[in-house]
Amino acid sequence: MEKFQELGLNGEILKGVADLGFVTPSPVQEKAIPVILGEQNDLVVLAQTGTGKTAAFGLPLLQKIDTERNDTQVLILSPTRELCMQIGNDLRNYAKYRPDIRVACVYGGTDIRKQIREVKQGIHIIVATPGRLVDMINRKAIHIETVFAVVLDEADEMLNMGFQEDLDFILSNTPKEKNTYLFSATMPKEVERIAKNYLIEPQEIAVGKKNQGADTVSHHYYMVRAKDCYETLRRVIDCAPDMYAIIFTRTKNDASEIAKHLQRDGIDCDALHGDLSQAQRDNVMTAFRAKRLKVLVATDVAARGLDVDCLTHVINYNLPEDVESYTHRSGRTGRAGKEGISIAIIHSKEKGKLRRIEKIIKKTFEYKSVPQGEEICRAQLAFWADKIIASEYQDNLALYEQEVYDKFAAYSKEELIQHLVSYEFGRLLKKYKNTEDLNVVEEEKKGKNKKAKEEKATIAYSTFILNIGRQDGLTPKELMGMINKYSRHKGVEIGDIRIFNTDTKFEVEEQVASDMAIDFKKVLYKGIPLELKAIPTRKEGRRRREEHGKERFPAKRERREKRSRKDRRAGELPEKRRGRPGSNPKKPRNFNRSSAGGK
Ligand code: AMP
Repeated sequence: MEKFQELGLNGEILKGVADLGFVTPSPVQEKAIPVILGEQNDLVVLAQTGTGKTAAFGLPLLQKIDTERNDTQVLILSPTRELCMQIGNDLRNYAKYRPDIRVACVYGGTDIRKQIREVKQGIHIIVATPGRLVDMINRKAIHIETVFAVVLDEADEMLNMGFQEDLDFILSNTPKEKNTYLFSATMPKEVERIAKNYLIEPQEIAVGKKNQGADTVSHHYYMVRAKDCYETLRRVIDCAPDMYAIIFTRTKNDASEIAKHLQRDGIDCDALHGDLSQAQRDNVMTAFRAKRLKVLVATDVAARGLDVDCLTHVINYNLPEDVESYTHRSGRTGRAGKEGISIAIIHSKEKGKLRRIEKIIKKTFEYKSVPQGEEICRAQLAFWADKIIASEYQDNLALYEQEVYDKFAAYSKEELIQHLVSYEFGRLLKKYKNTEDLNVVEEEKKGKNKKAKEEKATIAYSTFILNIGRQDGLTPKELMGMINKYSRHKGVEIGDIRIFNTDTKFEVEEQVASDMAIDFKKVLYKGIPLELKAIPTRKEGRRRREEHGKERFPAKRERREKRSRKDRRAGELPEKRRGRPGSNPKKPRNFNRSSAGGK
């Protein structure tokens, strides 16, 4: 508490802080409170939600309120109704021992007449969304010419939501000598413009760096095919039984579809998106805050300003369009010093985007393998067992204990455990019995291909020439099919296949080579009788040459020499030129029917 006192807070406000259990000021509070308590200091604060920024501006401003006056002295602007309500509640809590300070929240989506009646009583602090405030100013229900301070909370979000014009209107209606405190998680150009136009030589406070992710958040990613995104999501949720999370989607439709699927799969969840009425939104939020829902599926817009502490995870079902949205999404977890995990489910084409996000948030995404059934069942069972052990109602059982003992008397401890597990988890164990591996890991895949190639390289192959080729319509797939069909050996290892125009060269493992020619006898391909000729291996060729003391292709050599002698006699060739007249020596030699020994 002394620490808060050292910052300049005193009296009843300190008592309120103590009741909330705040012992030491958070870094943003430490830096901002003395500045705001001072005179004539504009301020730009770069801080994520969850850093304690509400108290950073709320505590000193409450202390500066003069309750002798009945007019509006502080204006706090925030992007959403939820955030407005949250700030209002926080301020009332801080001012628990200052009931003379009147705070009102003014936001769209509710009866404006009720709000007008409330503010007419004389309100010291107005917390408002920009659109509704403009409406109230135009109706002359609120007068902001008297304020000494304006707070722009989540300024980047307000501008994202298109409140630029409203902000310009509001700020130009406030007195020049007021102080302006701008709080933003990120600092895009539009926020810089507001700071430049409306703040006078502001001090800058940064908690974390510009657009940088919080240190308490770990970033994980799963890489799967697009069709497997939902299944991955479900497994990730099932594998974290204590999860309390927001799942972000890009569209309203995605949000409601995913929520429906998850509900169908037995997960306590609901959707939050722009198509819901205010009453529906409130219901969903109340259920989520009370943890009756384990996960909330939301669009970025619907979740703006949503203030829920203790989220264990944020899941990016789709990566957002821009990095700032990712910072906002992930900043919803890892708050108030707690650890949090931000998960991205991506497909391989999105890896570049992930790397771009990494560069800006200055954090590395850790690759995670999509959990398999066994891992999920283990996690669920361990969580369930812990819950049983932690159960606290044993004292109330005495009356019924005997009946339960009697029922279970015939079973051993092991049998009872088996029955219990099967009763609780029968469905889950069945569901996850034979799960498919959903991971798409390029590096791993490359590694596997390399390994397969290396394995292939160690196999000894024999080479054959077949008397059909591309012009006959042969494809590698067909050839592999034929080899497997006509060979007497099963699962023959096939090496290189080269299909030329009129014939085909291919390799099969050495062990089956001698049978291959026999097996292909009398086989027809589209009516063409197949002829298979083995090409001697280099080793074999060498052996033959050594045995017979002759060169590799003696007949060919003899023919060529005979032709050259004839040509030279006719004066058609210079002495050293080789090859037939008209042949192109650079052209690669193809295997043709005659060289393959065909018809
Ligand atoms: P905020 O960033 O204002 O949304 O605050 C995030 C959470 O941190 C809220 O639940 C606050 O009640 C809590 N909090 C704020 N300041 C402190 C503090 N000095 N010590 C402990 N908790 C705090």
